[in-house]
Amino acid sequence: MKSSKSSQTTALRVGIVGGGAAGVFTAWALQQVPNATITVDLWEAQGRFGGNTWSIPYTYNDVTYSLDAGAQFFFANPQPTYISLLKSLGLFEQDVSSYPAGICLWDTDQNARTLFVPSKIENFFDGTLKLSDIPSLLQFFAFLLQAEALDKSGNWSTSISQWLPNVQWVTQDFKDKVLTPFLYQFVSLPLSRIGESSALYALTYFVRNVTGWPGQPVVAPDAGDVFTLYQSASIGLDGILAQIRSVTPNTNFRVNAAVASVGYDPVQKQPGLTVNSTYLPYDVVILTCDPQTAANLINAGGRAAQPNAPALLQAIEYAQLPITLQAPQSSYMPADPASWQAANTVVSNNTGNVAFSGYFGALRPPAGSSLVPAFKSWSNPPIASPPPDNLLFHSHSVLYPTTASIQARDALQALQGASNVYFAGGWNTWFDSQEAALRSALNVVNAMANPFGIEPGPVIEPWLAEPGGRRETTMSRFVEQLIARMPEHLARPLRDGLRPALARL
Ligand SMILES: Cc1cc2nc3c(=O)[nH]c(=O)nc-3n(C[C@H](O)[C@H](O)[C@H](O)COP(=O)(O)OP(=O)(O)OC[C@H]3O[C@@H](n4cnc5c(N)ncnc54)[C@H](O)[C@@H]3O)c2cc1C
Repeated sequence: MKSSKSSQTTALRVGIVGGGAAGVFTAWALQQVPNATITVDLWEAQGRFGGNTWSIPYTYNDVTYSLDAGAQFFFANPQPTYISLLKSLGLFEQDVSSYPAGICLWDTDQNARTLFVPSKIENFFDGTLKLSDIPSLLQFFAFLLQAEALDKSGNWSTSISQWLPNVQWVTQDFKDKVLTPFLYQFVSLPLSRIGESSALYALTYFVRNVTGWPGQPVVAPDAGDVFTLYQSASIGLDGILAQIRSVTPNTNFRVNAAVASVGYDPVQKQPGLTVNSTYLPYDVVILTCDPQTAANLINAGGRAAQPNAPALLQAIEYAQLPITLQAPQSSYMPADPASWQAANTVVSNNTGNVAFSGYFGALRPPAGSSLVPAFKSWSNPPIASPPPDNLLFHSHSVLYPTTASIQARDALQALQGASNVYFAGGWNTWFDSQEAALRSALNVVNAMANPFGIEPGPVIEPWLAEPGGRRETTMSRFVEQLIARMPEHLARPLRDGLRPALARL
């Protein structure tokens, strides 16, 4: 580290392992640190940046869309820091679209939907929601109210199988056959192991979608939507990361450059990386790859850097998640297309198969009069080989957020910065998402301030919408909206029914 007293600047050399969202956010955040010249080498093993974000072009009815094959959605309430970053870079206004989003859980044993939340409030009254959907919807509300209380408690150590028995006003059947498979999309664990997940981890993203971060005003959904979902309109999440790279000029972004080990030189008191058989010393090394790879890299370097970290990193369970992007037919969607929503889960409680699918038709502007017939699915047991109509078959490493994983991840925070080695990543804090990847990057850059005598990194205030758009609220927001619009919706069928009767008279 070189410091020049006359200019009051500090010069730091930083090596980042991994070019996914967390690596790119970390490089960007380092370059926002005032009064410091921070040069960064970012090493990415694959031939592309993005990691779990991957956007590919897809043409339907002569319109070319960017389909996000990995991560895709974000929501205002649970991802306010990410939206703030996009706004500060002008990307939100340029490239982000919002869509109303709903939920379907389809039970293949019963060949029926067992949970259905339509995407628009009007769908509660226009026949989209059936009477048969209402009992499960009421139980779902009861579950959500109790999930909100868990989220406020901040208790990460209770598992789903410890928490669910205490959930009231919900039948055992609903807990087993509806709630547990519904949580698959948040935890990726096999159906038989969802009970091992940290209950708070499994619920927090969904709950904050409705209630926001504890203590923060709620800004969504848009009027008339049940949930308002955001996504890139044209460049994909990958394209967003590319834009962020383009405003990060002091970073050497390198692809096809797998780091083989992370070491530490006790004489120079510096960590370093081995890439292409060359050892490169740095003032700081930041590992943004998955925790299993981070453990392997430290072990390969002789454990001199962070001797206690590998055991904790290995205790954070990770698995491969094969994903298929399919068009125009899907093998994993609810049997009845009238039930298709942005987020769909198909389950057989008899066989233990569970699959999650995003339906792009609900999430892209229609091409002419038709919705875009493209689908993104993953399942447990994992999809073994490309199904029919596969556009892209690929695999990502994902966190299995068991209570043991979360405990190890919390314990790892005490080791941040030892030997000047830090850890960031979607897995590193809160719930694996662009928001967590960004927050973890900001945490690391701020944690570097004190040991390196630099100013803290950027503070990104969560996006809380424009003045007047904010509301202090809880789960009741949704119910309030529903009730406020009820007279109008109930009046319409009455009016429509009366009109022909009056005409006849
Ligand atoms: C199927 C799926 C859907 C998702 N959907 C959403 C969503 O809708 N919204 C949302 O916000 N989040 C979503 N997520 C989560 C989101 O993708 C992640 O939180 C975030 O992208 C993680 O970024 P990361 O940089 O921490 O990790 P990664 O994206 O995993 O990046 C790690 C990078 O490290 C690289 N690497 C590994 N080993 C080495 C090495 N030895 N040397 C150099 N580089 C190495 C990898 O190649 C990779 O590029 C989803 C995730 C998945 C898998």
